[in-house]
This record gives sequence, C-alpha cells and structure tokens, in this order.
Amino acid sequence: MKSLDFGAIRAVIFDADGTLWWGGEPLSGLAPMFEFLRRQGIATAIATNNTVAPLDHYWQKLADFGVTEGPDAVVTAAEAAALYVARRFGASASVFVIGEQGLCEALREMGCRLIDDARERADAVVVGGDRMLTYAKLKDAIQQIRAGAAFIGANPDILVPTDEGLAPEAGVTLAALQAATGLAPVVIGKPERPLFDLALARLGARPAATLMVGDRLETDILGGRQSGLLTALVTTGIDNHDTIPVKGIVPDAVFGGLPDLLAAWQAHPSVQTQTSILPAHPSPVEG
Ligand SMILES: [Mg+2]
Repeated sequence: MKSLDFGAIRAVIFDADGTLWWGGEPLSGLAPMFEFLRRQGIATAIATNNTVAPLDHYWQKLADFGVTEGPDAVVTAAEAAALYVARRFGASASVFVIGEQGLCEALREMGCRLIDDARERADAVVVGGDRMLTYAKLKDAIQQIRAGAAFIGANPDILVPTDEGLAPEAGVTLAALQAATGLAPVVIGKPERPLFDLALARLGARPAATLMVGDRLETDILGGRQSGLLTALVTTGIDNHDTIPVKGIVPDAVFGGLPDLLAAWQAHPSVQTQTSILPAHPSPVEG
C-alpha cells in the first residue's frame, strides 16, 4: 500500500453510509473534514448507491449534523440511473420501476413516464432498493424484460445494514430477475462507472487528481480504482484491514476514520500553515 500524495488531490468524493454517518448518527470529524477541504480549495462530492431517499434528504441530514460548509455536490445512483435512461431512450422514456421515492423522483424529474404494470410496454426496467417489493412487481419486471425492456440496476448492493439487522437491497432483486430472464443488468452505481462519471462531471474533476473515500471495498474502493481515482478506505463501516486480503481489493491508503484522514492531510507539506490550527482529532459532531 503506497501513501497518498495529498498535494496532487484537487477533489474528493465521499461515500455516505459508513463513511460520513452511520444511520442517523454522524461519524466523528464530519464537519471539520468538509471545512478543511473547502479552505484548501478542494472540491467535494458525496456519491451514494442508496436510491431510496430523495436528494433533499442528504442536504437536510448534513444540516442536521451541523455541516455548514457542506459538499459541492451530492449525487445518487438514482440520479445517475435516470440520466442513463434519458441518454439511451430520450427524456420521455417509459420506465417500469422497482424502487422507492428517491428513484421514482429522479426518473420523473428527468421527464420519464413511470408505468404501473406489464400491460403497457416499457423502454426500461430500473431496479433500486425497495422495501415494498412484491410478487406482482417481480412478475411485471420479468415480463417487461422478457418483452425487450432494457434491464438496469441502479445499484448492485446485496445487503444493507438496518436497525433490524442486514436487509435485502437492489442486488437481491437483480439476482432474482437475472435468474428469471437469463439476462444480466446494466449496473449504474458503484463499483460501475456511471456514478463516478456523474460525480466527476459535477465537480469538473480529473480522475487522477480525485480521491475516493469509502468504507466498502467492493463498491467504493474497487469502483474508484476502476475509474482511475485514488482511493482511501475508512474503517468506520463495512471493511477493515482484515478484509482487504480476503477480498483482494487494495486501497491506496487506510484510515481509522475521518479524524485520521484529516490529521494525515493536515500534516502533509502541501497544506499551508494557517490551516493546521484545526484540531487533529476533533470531537464528534453533535447530532
Ligand atoms: Mg458505505
């Protein structure tokens, strides 16, 4: 594992859950991290595979967590999926959705028409996490795909940690639809490129000068590497030092959390001295 050249980084893309917060609780160092990067003139984005919550949810969450100097952009796999559909089929594409509010809103805002069942032919079936998944939705999606609709996965996550333990995410539905149709989905979210491309475009950033910070090796770190970004794993979520050799996905650097990343960055010679008055280990943000 090589050490990061912080002086070469002009933009940072953060994962959300397990990296910036854990469910309803902010992780330590959240607000100071964004304040520091803004003072350094480094562009920042949050890129999440979550398609359940609408975009407003993230800005509200940041405000609730006391992040007054927040990121320059928040991008979700829902928005990236809607862009993909619009580019491929036109903005007025007809879409059968398995998903919740975030995905439906993103598609509607793009101009797409959401259709209710398999009686009307859809251009695309778009699948995100859906806590109201039913037999009828699976049946209609299977019939749409077998009739020729494009098969699109907003994100490939299999499981999501919840207050009730691990719960099925979009990947479970994608596996069921793949089994039923014999077709593999086009996947939009991490580790695939479209979500990274959207975040980079939003920031006007070059991949080689952009750091991806995330807690999951097979999405954040693998995806960052495949898209040509520098990568840093924070061990506040899913993965840690022990899972790196098991999964065989190696980030450029590993940090115990945002305070450790901030301290390492502040200690780098590229950082001007007036910014290093920030505490190296800030106390947790009050929720
Ligand atoms: Mg995460």
